[in-house]
Amino acid sequence: MPSSPLLFAGIEAGGTKFVCAVGTGPNDLRAFTRFPTTTPAETLARVIEFLDAAQRQHGALSAIGVAAFGPLDPNPASPTYGFITTTPKPGWAHTDFVGTLRQHVAIPIAFDTDVNGAGLGEWRWGAARGLDTFIYLTIGTGIGGGGMVRGRLLHGLMHPEMGHILLRRDPQRDPFPGICPYHGDCLEGLASGPAIARRWGQKAALLPPDHPAWDLEADYLAQALHTFICTLSPQRIILGGGVMHQTHLFPRIRARVQRSLNAYIQSPALLEHMEDYIVPPGLGDRAGVLGAIALAERAFRQTSNVKRKTSDHGAWTFEKD
Ligand code: ADP
Ligand code: ZN
Repeated sequence: MPSSPLLFAGIEAGGTKFVCAVGTGPNDLRAFTRFPTTTPAETLARVIEFLDAAQRQHGALSAIGVAAFGPLDPNPASPTYGFITTTPKPGWAHTDFVGTLRQHVAIPIAFDTDVNGAGLGEWRWGAARGLDTFIYLTIGTGIGGGGMVRGRLLHGLMHPEMGHILLRRDPQRDPFPGICPYHGDCLEGLASGPAIARRWGQKAALLPPDHPAWDLEADYLAQALHTFICTLSPQRIILGGGVMHQTHLFPRIRARVQRSLNAYIQSPALLEHMEDYIVPPGLGDRAGVLGAIALAERAFRQTSNVKRKTSDHGAWTFEKD
């Protein structure tokens, strides 16, 4: 029986922009668009328009993956599954994201955090291939973390909120009280792009590499990674998001994590191969939307009785009964 690569849609739903794509993987994206995040009604209408146009042009989609900002409800057994829940983003609290899409499409829809999505994409095609326990952190407008433990995406009561852990802040060195509306000087409150901009009165992207902002930033991120390494024992840590475009942060963070762990954890990954341990996303800025496609692919595989799968130019092809 002939088989052809199945088409999936990925929706990366960010607080400032949405990125949507249709394809089978990194080397085969057939439709792509991005637009600003406005009201839920207007933004989701644009998503549906994109899906309709893509299906008309490229054929039927097999599943949709949504990787969204949160907090959100990723638990299929919950009455508010598929909702963005308590977000402070104006207009978006308690938005029934999946329910709105379901009114228009009858294919499987996967719904997870942006960082679990990006983590799954990195596992499928990027820097986490072959691993079963790793984290993906984004350092952008907010800070969030996701990934896998023993091959399962990180869920739980809701989902981890790694951006809101508490750090040690020396008020002599850094009197800035932080910008998190809930916690003040949590990780996101101190080290997100907007926190850097507010503290220094200048957009993060415009601060030169020798500005003291970056040593402080590396200190905070290294403190956070110390905590995550000690709690989850990840085999690798992937750092994405706009702030990490400052690539000089990578060696600074690695050195600080090593100093801070102080050879307590006796693994060659931490003692000798830090450049392979704390890394940028293999998929670059496409990690988010490709991750959403990976969520779709996984949802399809879980809900259909797939008999055999073969890898074909990096894409999965499925032969069904
Ligand atoms: P989002 O988190 O909204 O999905 P990004 O990951 O692109 O999007 O993060 C945007 C944040 O990253 C902004 O606060 C911006 O200031 C910061 N940022 C973007 N580019 C850079 C850069 N080159 N250097 C430092 N910070 C940057
Ligand atoms: Zn916080």
